Amino acid sequence: MLLGYAEVARESTRTAASAQAVPVGSPAAGIRQPGEGGTVSTTIASPALEEALENARARYSRANSASLAAHLEAAAVMPGGNTRTVLFHTPFPLTMARGEGCRLWDADGHEYVDLLGEYTAGLYGHSHPAIRAAINEALDGGWNLGGHGRMEAQLARLICERFPSIDLVRFTNSGTEANLMALGTAAALTGRRSVIVCNGGYHGGVLYFGGGGSPINVPYDWLLCRYNDADAAASLIEEYGAQLGAILVEPMLGSGGCIPAEAEFLEALRTGAELTGAVMIFDEVMTSRMSGGGQQARLGIIPDLTTLGKYIGGGMSFGAFGGRRDIMELYDPRRPGSLPHAGTFNNNVLSMRAGAAGLGTVFTPAAAEELFQQGESLRGRLNGASAGLNMQWTGLGSLMTVHFQQSAIVRPEDIRPDAGLKELFFFDMLAGGFYLARRGMLALSLEVGAGELDAFTEAVREFVEERRPLLCG
Ligand code: PLP
Repeated sequence: MLLGYAEVARESTRTAASAQAVPVGSPAAGIRQPGEGGTVSTTIASPALEEALENARARYSRANSASLAAHLEAAAVMPGGNTRTVLFHTPFPLTMARGEGCRLWDADGHEYVDLLGEYTAGLYGHSHPAIRAAINEALDGGWNLGGHGRMEAQLARLICERFPSIDLVRFTNSGTEANLMALGTAAALTGRRSVIVCNGGYHGGVLYFGGGGSPINVPYDWLLCRYNDADAAASLIEEYGAQLGAILVEPMLGSGGCIPAEAEFLEALRTGAELTGAVMIFDEVMTSRMSGGGQQARLGIIPDLTTLGKYIGGGMSFGAFGGRRDIMELYDPRRPGSLPHAGTFNNNVLSMRAGAAGLGTVFTPAAAEELFQQGESLRGRLNGASAGLNMQWTGLGSLMTVHFQQSAIVRPEDIRPDAGLKELFFFDMLAGGFYLARRGMLALSLEVGAGELDAFTEAVREFVEERRPLLCG
């Protein structure tokens, strides 16, 4: 098996080429890619970068004929051959054939170290024995039972014991749905439909606030706040306090570029919620892995409601919303006038059992701390490899994103338009056998070991050496 396809020689980056300039304002000049993909904002590439990109795309296309065939076949029956926007990229996306541990194999037989970790849902890797055993047990008991099972209470107990804000919890099928439920809860409780969200925030397919938002967002009265701007938050709260039903915020912008929230900013939102009676919702769909009790436990800032998703279902489809007892009790069906919360698959046996096995026996608080530290150390090494150049990694713990600039990134507005270096980095890493998000994000799984991280650090060093002329100035 090949690890990537690096044996195909990389072409020089130095020769000038007949660059095809992308006019500013054309669709290609500012690609808005909603969804887990966040925003990929581009600017005009230099001739040298354009040539390097053309060569990298050509090398990718040559090496991946089976993926291309699969893409074309899919495109006959699905728009763009796609059912999950974030997975699409030009010239065509890879088709993955199989995974094991922290490794993936694509349709053309290339092997990759999986550093994408299914956008954080793949925390347990592709074949963890504890998860597999749990799924087998669930299947042995039959599925679609149409009744309560024992595992949902077990998973709920694990979650309530670990996340400081969660007294009671309910399950959904995705993080998007969890956020929709949390927002609906806040609106029902307060009778108000104004919601503070952050520019660059991503809370699901219909709750996307990067690049000017998405036309398919659900209709609330959205109030867009600059991320990490406590003063902006305070003035929004002062101006709209009487209408404010909820404040929905990621403790780190995940899709928005792995930009951690400053405690002062979250404190300002917390205070604002108390002053106005709005419900403060932490979207910890991505950041719940930052400690045994999520980023809220790390920061000591406790929201009213928390939403969860991704790996907490053991890698099966999953979402959850939970929080203060008095709020969540609105859903207690024993109470007259309780709120309804439906969902055929909310307690499906696979997610419940795999999730309970994962949180209960694998991703313990100690394992969460270890993973966090492993990620912090990796980010430090990666930043060391590009010190002084237009390349940096932002993030927290096991989640990080590469940005091709030297200036600090505190909020999405600080991210410079990308001329194509992200794409080049993506293709170079694929060629070297490392799979990551097209936007340059990594989400480490528990299966990724020191050897893989050393090899990746080395691959990044090689990229820096080989592409140095494109990273200066
Ligand atoms: N919230 C955040 C912070 C996310 O990153 C995501 C997905 O990437 C979601 C919500 C939506 O979760 P799902 O894709 O399960 O609907």
